[in-house]
Amino acid sequence: MRRSEVTLFTSRESEGWENDTVQLAVRAGLVRQFGSGLFGFTPSGQRVRRNVVRTIEAEMDAIGGQAVSLPSLQHKAIWKQSGRWGNFEDEMFTFENRDGQAMCLAPSHEEGIVHLVDGFVRSYEDVPRLFYQVARKHRDDHPRNGLLRTKEFTMKDAYSLHATEESLDEWYARVRDAYCRIFDTLGIDFVVVDAENSVMGGSASEEFVAPVETGSSELVFCETDRCRVGVTDESDDTSLAAGDTCPVCGGTLTAGEGIEIGHVFKLGTRYSDPAGLTVDTADGSTRPVQMGSYGIGVDRLVHTLIEQHADGDGCQWPVTATGTVAPYALAIVPLDYDGEIAQAADRLHDACGREETLLFDDPDQTIGERFAESDLLGIPWKAVLGNNFRETGDVELETRDGDTQFVELEQIADVVSR
Ligand SMILES: [Zn+2]
Repeated sequence: MRRSEVTLFTSRESEGWENDTVQLAVRAGLVRQFGSGLFGFTPSGQRVRRNVVRTIEAEMDAIGGQAVSLPSLQHKAIWKQSGRWGNFEDEMFTFENRDGQAMCLAPSHEEGIVHLVDGFVRSYEDVPRLFYQVARKHRDDHPRNGLLRTKEFTMKDAYSLHATEESLDEWYARVRDAYCRIFDTLGIDFVVVDAENSVMGGSASEEFVAPVETGSSELVFCETDRCRVGVTDESDDTSLAAGDTCPVCGGTLTAGEGIEIGHVFKLGTRYSDPAGLTVDTADGSTRPVQMGSYGIGVDRLVHTLIEQHADGDGCQWPVTATGTVAPYALAIVPLDYDGEIAQAADRLHDACGREETLLFDDPDQTIGERFAESDLLGIPWKAVLGNNFRETGDVELETRDGDTQFVELEQIADVVSR
């Protein structure tokens, strides 16, 4: 993409936010607020969010998930049947349509998935199945901490269906492992916390919580790499405290704050029972379908990545073995976009993929402004075409951390490829 042809929304004026991460997201031009608890994503922000979603979808597909799309706008009937109408912690948006029928904006989709499969899942041979979607959810929550608690947000939600509890246990573990791989791939530091089921119901659940400086819950966690032991102030388990020895690895537990980025539930028959969703078994009997429910907060992941990795110059997006979610993989920064330098910059733009690179061709920007904007966006590589290129023909390739190497123009695409 050419800097002269994209709208970046970067801003010097972003004061007044209670939260440093939201302030940076606004300053980097990733989001704009649309009133309390509502955010829109700009082209740069949407590029990051799209890359996060692709990472999640790849893992869900890899474990056998099938993508679906359920309506956000729903009639009362299925919520009345499950017993959650008017009983969703007062967070459900409800209203009447023009015909006086009660409707809602779905805060979750357990009822929806039961309705989707009703009549098509009938035999033990029709399960196990895992369905997922990436969709907007609506909850009339008290807005807090910018992107962490909003009235409309994007979630990847998934639901599994089973004939037996053993099958539910097996798939619960499978999705749990996939979640660990997703967060590792994105470069998010996280722990796993035993959690209450509250509004979802069911027999067991665990939260994935990212340790951060400013989060939405109190967290006591083990700092040992990949140990992942933690408890929050909402956990049933209150036996662990800061300074205690970690029960798993023997390390020391620390106190901090956390952001809930994912949640997995064994729902059992909480939703299949009231809907009469059953399967016939091999011995001729009938039993209610066992269900699991699995969620990842997509917007929260963007917030968490900024929170865990940003520095004084702006966003930083981790570069892991499988790539990065940065809005652009490479910034091409010519000293002046003119003459042979401009030709070389164009060549590099083509070689590295126009869609994934940002070419600073805008004549109104100084070199300093180009560097600052690239760092604010968190672009992991800058290819600088200046005096060194004129003299030697090598491009100065700089990481977001400031490490520099000199690389032949033809080799740049290999070095920075995701
Ligand atoms: Zn530990």
